[in-house]
Amino acid sequence: MAQPKKKKEFKSALHLMDGIEQPSSVNEQLLTKMKQKKASGVSPEVLFEGLKEGDRVMLGKAITLVESNLDIHHDEARLIIEKCLPLSGKSVRIGVTGVPGVGKSTFIEAMGMHLIAKGHKIAVLAVDPSSGRSKGSILGDKTRMEQLAAHNHAFIRPSPSAGTLGGVTRKTQETIILCEAAGYDIIFVETVGVGQSEVAVKNMVDFFLLLVLAGAGDELQGIKRGIMEMADAVVIHKADEDNLLRAKTKIATYEHALHFFPPADSGWIPKVIECSSVTGHNIPEVWTMIRDYVQHTETNGYFLHNRQEQEVQCLHHAIEDYLRNIVLGNPEIRESVKKFEQDIRHRKISPYQAASFVIEKHLRQ
Ligand code: GDP
Repeated sequence: MAQPKKKKEFKSALHLMDGIEQPSSVNEQLLTKMKQKKASGVSPEVLFEGLKEGDRVMLGKAITLVESNLDIHHDEARLIIEKCLPLSGKSVRIGVTGVPGVGKSTFIEAMGMHLIAKGHKIAVLAVDPSSGRSKGSILGDKTRMEQLAAHNHAFIRPSPSAGTLGGVTRKTQETIILCEAAGYDIIFVETVGVGQSEVAVKNMVDFFLLLVLAGAGDELQGIKRGIMEMADAVVIHKADEDNLLRAKTKIATYEHALHFFPPADSGWIPKVIECSSVTGHNIPEVWTMIRDYVQHTETNGYFLHNRQEQEVQCLHHAIEDYLRNIVLGNPEIRESVKKFEQDIRHRKISPYQAASFVIEKHLRQ
């Protein structure tokens, strides 16, 4: 009986045996250089000089550098931030939160245009820790804030898309410094209105504004107590047409709800006001209220105190971040963390014990 034909063996001098690590087909050094060029392409000194003169392109490039996760950008980013720091801090930083659809972007646009007409320069930033995953970043949609985006006294930047809330927060804080150095004197920081980002934003702004709707049903629904408690003002939004009267009647309800929270350290009693970004109703009044707050807290010393405390907090977060990066930047440690994750799922070890093993292992190295 004829034997089945043996499959012809493929022989080549280039054949790699199993178990031999294959080199990357890409020149890693070149790739790194290309990425570096893509992020800035310009020296930090030139970026700084440009942004200081109010060049929005240079500001955008400098922010890209600060947002970069690549080690090679770290020193350049630090240099720009250090140069910008003495020019920063002179703005009013306003946090805006509220459930999706409440009208945050529309409000920021209406308020922004009002303030530009008064001679201010407006920067709009966002904190959206989910944007890395969902790619559905707030402010990412170009159709939003069209008027503001087209104005050369406004600068709009979507949320950095780093993974952790801590990472996104730090980058947004650094972006605030860059924008201030570029002459933007009113900075809006928008949040997604869900999850933990509100606390992060509250901790980087001077004034925290909660937008709500006077819609039917329980108007407090969906707004967590904690977020109400952080608010310096509750703005009942979309107060136009049929909603105007309804919004006015809800003011007392919100004032009553706010009344039960302990007094804020700022000594400021949170205000409730209705407004419409479509008709412009009460937009100037909301700004007057924010200015009153600034005056009130500058007089009693809270404004400066709050900024100082925020910087101290920033130091702690930066240290935590730095340590996390050092520890988890080590591939061996990352590998052992992965193994511990499995062990924890199978209840073989407690998370605390695993964490101390990881740290001790790192310290021994
Ligand atoms: P965000 O998700 O909170 O940023 O909300 P948007 O700003 O995208 O607004 C959501 C919807 O509400 C859009 O269709 C807006 O046109 C509408 N909207 C925003 N502000 C107002 C307002 O003051 N009055 C009315 N009637 N509609 C508004």
